[in-house]
Amino acid sequence: MAMLDSFNLFISIAKIIYMKERILSGLQPSGRLHVGNYLGALKNFVELQNSGEYDCFFFIADYHSISEPPYESEQKRKDILDLMKSYLAAGLDPKKSTLFVQSQIPAHTELSWIFNSVTPMGELSRMTQFKDKSEDGEANAALFTYPVLQAADILIYKPAFVPTGEDQDQHIELSRVIARKFNSRYGEVFPEPQSKHTDIPRVISLNDPSKKMSKSKPNGCLFIDDGPEEIAKKLSSAVTDSGSEIKYDAVHKPGISNLLRLASALSSKEIAVLEQEFAGKNYGEFKSYAAKTVADYFAAYRERKTKLSDAKAEKIFTKGSMKAAKIADATLLEVKDRIGLI
Ligand code: AMP
Repeated sequence: MAMLDSFNLFISIAKIIYMKERILSGLQPSGRLHVGNYLGALKNFVELQNSGEYDCFFFIADYHSISEPPYESEQKRKDILDLMKSYLAAGLDPKKSTLFVQSQIPAHTELSWIFNSVTPMGELSRMTQFKDKSEDGEANAALFTYPVLQAADILIYKPAFVPTGEDQDQHIELSRVIARKFNSRYGEVFPEPQSKHTDIPRVISLNDPSKKMSKSKPNGCLFIDDGPEEIAKKLSSAVTDSGSEIKYDAVHKPGISNLLRLASALSSKEIAVLEQEFAGKNYGEFKSYAAKTVADYFAAYRERKTKLSDAKAEKIFTKGSMKAAKIADATLLEVKDRIGLI
């Protein structure tokens, strides 16, 4: 009887594990992470992982990062190791999530070639990220076909959700288009993934409230490993709006509203509570408070990161890549079989 109970318990646990929906996302190792990356993506990764509700996959999108400078190999290695340590210091845990590196799994790039054959050129030409990034000069083909590789990164694991910031919505939509095109040509293989946003899917630039905070415009970025003095300096010169009231109004006061959102997310105080606390006070006083909130919030993260060695981080991700590769290889085999490749 006891044996039967244990068996039933085992089956129930196995069912719960089996039934967990999969989520997958990644960041590019293309420089330091800013609070937009953190509040739009990484913080969410950690919360989704810790909820225990999902089968979590998070990766380093190193192949994507070679579509833009810097191109120095030493810098690239440094950026990859730095991002691995950022993931770990932020709270991603290899015991709870599969952490891996895109370039260590050849099946991603193989599938992206296959997806090229079902992707309409017109869809790629419409991608606003490509238009924005190619504005300043001649773009390479990788920047153009980037969303096809991204679709392969995602679909190869057949996830239900992809947690990202709002700027990735168009790319996630394209991965659904690619899934549909493939499925209608070769039969049902890929479920269509949905985006999963945080409450702050678009953090705006500190020096231009009409733009999102972006690694390609470092002057408007607050980096999560900036020290307290740097944070105070950047926030004190952040562009705010006319008037002096600390009031949330995303349309008429986008600058102060952005800072209110940041301070609220990192202090767990409602925006309305912050508005009350700062009623009658000026922008300068609120900016000092916001700077202390940001610096305090990331102090533990900075401390944890300095304690992580490159070797340890690399080992964790290489092990994760071996696990992820098994799933990716199985999907690729299924795809090749559907196409008729021998
Ligand atoms: P990337 O810099 O392209 O590697 O972006 C990594 C993740 O950060 C993606 O999920 C983006 O959507 C998210 N992200 C980047 N910039 C912002 C921003 N300003 N606000 C919110 N999320 C962002």
